Amino acid sequence: MSKIREIHNQLINQEISCLELIKSKLDVLKLNTHNTVNSLLETFALEAAAKVDAKIAKGEQIGLLEGIPFGVKDVFMVQGTYTTASSNLLKKYKSPYTATAIQKLLDAGAIPLVKENGDSFGHGSSSENTIFGAVKNAVNPTLVSGGSSGGSAVNVAKEYTVFSIGGDTGGSVRQPAGYNQVFGLKPTYGRISRFGLMAYASSTDCVGPIATSTEDIRIVLNAMSGKDVKDQTTYASEEITVANILNTEGVKTVGYFKNFITNEAIDASVKAAFLASIEKIKAKGIAVKELDFFESDTLVSTYYTLAMAETASNLSRLDGTNYGNRIEGDNLKDTYSITRSENFSEETKRRIVGGNQVLSQGFSDEIYLKGLQLRDQISKNFEKDFEQVDVILSPVTPQAPPKIGDSLKDPLAMYLSDAYTVGFSLGQLPTLTVPQGTETGLQITAAKNNDELVLKFANFLKDTI
Ligand code: GLN
Repeated sequence: MSKIREIHNQLINQEISCLELIKSKLDVLKLNTHNTVNSLLETFALEAAAKVDAKIAKGEQIGLLEGIPFGVKDVFMVQGTYTTASSNLLKKYKSPYTATAIQKLLDAGAIPLVKENGDSFGHGSSSENTIFGAVKNAVNPTLVSGGSSGGSAVNVAKEYTVFSIGGDTGGSVRQPAGYNQVFGLKPTYGRISRFGLMAYASSTDCVGPIATSTEDIRIVLNAMSGKDVKDQTTYASEEITVANILNTEGVKTVGYFKNFITNEAIDASVKAAFLASIEKIKAKGIAVKELDFFESDTLVSTYYTLAMAETASNLSRLDGTNYGNRIEGDNLKDTYSITRSENFSEETKRRIVGGNQVLSQGFSDEIYLKGLQLRDQISKNFEKDFEQVDVILSPVTPQAPPKIGDSLKDPLAMYLSDAYTVGFSLGQLPTLTVPQGTETGLQITAAKNNDELVLKFANFLKDTI
């Protein structure tokens, strides 16, 4: 059931006004019950809504996304708005320009309401690593929301926004989507421009929509996709049509990684639910293959080696000179170090230190280059897999969401909780979380550029499990 279409119809039939709609969403967002809000874009949103109403009153046509309220993770540039990355360092930073993905949504008439809370600079899996307070899970507020796009997933799950735009480097859209029982897509790397998304690990950073149906994911994905001269890793893609994703006949073979399911870290109930889903898929006449894959520990260490190296490099520009809340020291060197020590969180500092170690002379051959080699092997493994199967199915996480407070005590356990999401990021593959199959959902992955197949299989699963 598409919320976007439902609201679109209500608007054009004048059952609701856009202003009423936007006001009602802003009212609930102002309560900020789940710590999802870093800042509200109230003035802009109200003005935009009035324009949509004026158009409708004049009998003019409006586009499907026109007047639809959405949320933006606070790592995207939206000109004139605070863009804090949920960090102290950028607490007062205002975007000088707008990210391409967000601009495309603005051009389509969608209305941004809120810059959303999450783990600072994308560093985390729980949305507790933030200066705006831990984001609370939409289903059970004593649990974490997941991360790093926790605020975005919770806003969608609570219907505070119709859809939200998150960033996924190693699972940050898919994992919170799973924890809050909504849909979240990490598209093929390069399908959506990263221009104006604050860089975490540039080689895996993806812009990803979160919504309550595959149809809404499809609509928003189409609106944001495309080649962008400002991001040389983007490519031109074809629009994904409704007809193509409703015809679910294309999928004949499904694979899953045996070691994900036999791993001792997996919770017994997640395992049982996953295997029960596999049985239902088999019962529909689909062939299911067990696949071999790298051990979770290898995936997690490869991902964190590369992600830390890239983030250490990307964040080096944040020294209080061009960006960031500068704290003066006795000399320039002191100024840099005080600014960075005082303003970065413990988790971010852990990653900068780790990343600089990985990249430093004497270590980089042994650690960083080895990480790159492993990444190539992982990609080759995926290529082989997709010669045998159409899609790969996996749980989103090995365990249910932890209680608020627990992940901060044990960063290593938090890194390991990313075991099932990071491999697909390293492979740059399209992967969708659907809120079905296990208590934290299922991931559907296809070969590169096969985002359409992922959505198609999600439609098949809807009627199957
Ligand atoms: N949890 C992972 C990390 O902390 C993924 C985060 C993300 O995708 N931004 O790196």
